[in-house]
Amino acid sequence: MIQKGSIDDFGMIMSISALREVNDNIAKAADRYGTRLQDKLPSLVAVSKTFDAKDIEPVLEAGQRIFGENRVQESQKKWPQLKEKYPDVELHLIGPLQTNKVKDAVALFDVIQSVDREKLARALAKEFERVGKSLPIFIQVNIGAEEQKAGIDPNDALSFVELCRDELKLDVQGLMCIPPNGVPAAPYFAQMKELADRAGLSQLSMGMSADYELAVEMGATHVRVGSAIFGTRPKPLPH
Ligand SMILES: *Cc1c(COP(=O)(O)O)cnc(C)c1O
Repeated sequence: MIQKGSIDDFGMIMSISALREVNDNIAKAADRYGTRLQDKLPSLVAVSKTFDAKDIEPVLEAGQRIFGENRVQESQKKWPQLKEKYPDVELHLIGPLQTNKVKDAVALFDVIQSVDREKLARALAKEFERVGKSLPIFIQVNIGAEEQKAGIDPNDALSFVELCRDELKLDVQGLMCIPPNGVPAAPYFAQMKELADRAGLSQLSMGMSADYELAVEMGATHVRVGSAIFGTRPKPLPH
């Protein structure tokens, strides 16, 4: 329900049409992959980083409930209030997590998609034990083995999954990746699917605005879409 005057109508109409288009494209791609037959449409994670609550609210009003953010501090400025108003929101952390922010992240987020190193996995396990809850996590794989990019090396992914799942008792749901820029993503998506299958993990977070349909066709269960929903980001990303 829209409170009159609280959200500008133009923003509302734009959000509804952008969301509808992305959801339609996901459904069509899922048909091509065959997931719809199994009645499991991939989840759309709406990536709201750099956008303010006033830009996010029309998307919430349009019915979207799963959101992704890549920085803990930025999320703390907008999501506690939004979650109070929309309690069924599911907030995914999709960016780098420093161990000194683990406590804050566990308090605010519902899913941590960016578990990318042993130190972080151990810190999360400790915090989950301390607070008596365990969040679902994804292991971030550096599928292009790029020097500057976060994530577990693909060759170490299976043993890292085992460490997280068996030793640390983390609720490992799947794998996540950001493939290399400027080259076709398909070979990387295929490798991710194979890795997830070998690890016995059913969830796969891959595909962004430029390639989410391809990702769904190749087995993604979560796509992370920002600019195709919110428009071009207002400022270049810090770091
Ligand atoms: C920003 C971001 C996205 C969304 O990117 P778009 O190209 O705007 O769809 C997805 N995943 C991660 C990890 C991001 O940081």
